[in-house]
Amino acid sequence: MSTRLFIGGMRGSQPATGGAFEEFGGDTTSLLVVGSREERLVLDAGTGMRAVAEQLARTEPGLVTVLFSHYHLDHMAGLVMNPLFYQAEWSFCLTGPTFSDGCVRDAVTRLLAPPYWPISWEQMDARIDFVALTRDPAAASPPNGVSPILFLRQNLHVRGCLVPHPGGCMAYRIDDTDAGTSLVFATDIEWARRTAVEEATFLKMCREPDPADVLVIDAHFAEAEKETFAGWGHTSWEDCLVIAQSAGIERVLLGHHAPQADDETLLARERQVRERMAGAALARAGQWIVI
Ligand SMILES: [Zn+2]
Ligand SMILES: [Zn+2]
Repeated sequence: MSTRLFIGGMRGSQPATGGAFEEFGGDTTSLLVVGSREERLVLDAGTGMRAVAEQLARTEPGLVTVLFSHYHLDHMAGLVMNPLFYQAEWSFCLTGPTFSDGCVRDAVTRLLAPPYWPISWEQMDARIDFVALTRDPAAASPPNGVSPILFLRQNLHVRGCLVPHPGGCMAYRIDDTDAGTSLVFATDIEWARRTAVEEATFLKMCREPDPADVLVIDAHFAEAEKETFAGWGHTSWEDCLVIAQSAGIERVLLGHHAPQADDETLLARERQVRERMAGAALARAGQWIVI
């Protein structure tokens, strides 16, 4: 019994095209988690959602949950051309955090409507529901010390915490209780700007109840570029490895690749990454990973 993870795309900020981007792919962030009971959970809906939809189309039509980390366009743009929205046998539960500028329903319904897209979400054939993730301050520290479960999808238990990023962003931990596997998804995080509370909360989520099997994390920059890009909302790959090591996570997938970082740059980076941590790699679009 296992959990499977498909990388539809892990390019950051905007898509990249052309022969120099074939190895790692140019589509922006969208991943598919398939639980041990075939639960389908899509993490973010960047342009990589097209590849995710191709994988979903090979399976029985039914319910798909789409969980958003935040609503920046590189994590939303794949919604407009998701072919499964135009097929009545599919149903989508779109869920995500509420920030000061709105909830998941506000963000999606603004985008899936004129003038940004000719067809409004209400005219699409698939059933589309919205569920706002609520952060109950009273539930922030449950008695067992583990961060609260935000929602369940059969055996997939999703926890989350806010991470430093302009406008806000959530990182999630997904535990597949049947398979005994766990995954942390932390796209769009600026570790250098964390508060002590953010650091403690995030590391706790990574570590408890046991260190996650896989950490998928934003490694947009290198340490040498950190000062130039301070405040952009992203982390250096070097910091990502330190985070993984302090959380006791051995398998790391680095993503949110900068749009200008071509295959040659990323392959060179991956060699440096592997020298420091054998279980770390750069995420490649089109890749399936068994957890
Ligand atoms: Zn992003
Ligand atoms: Zn962002």
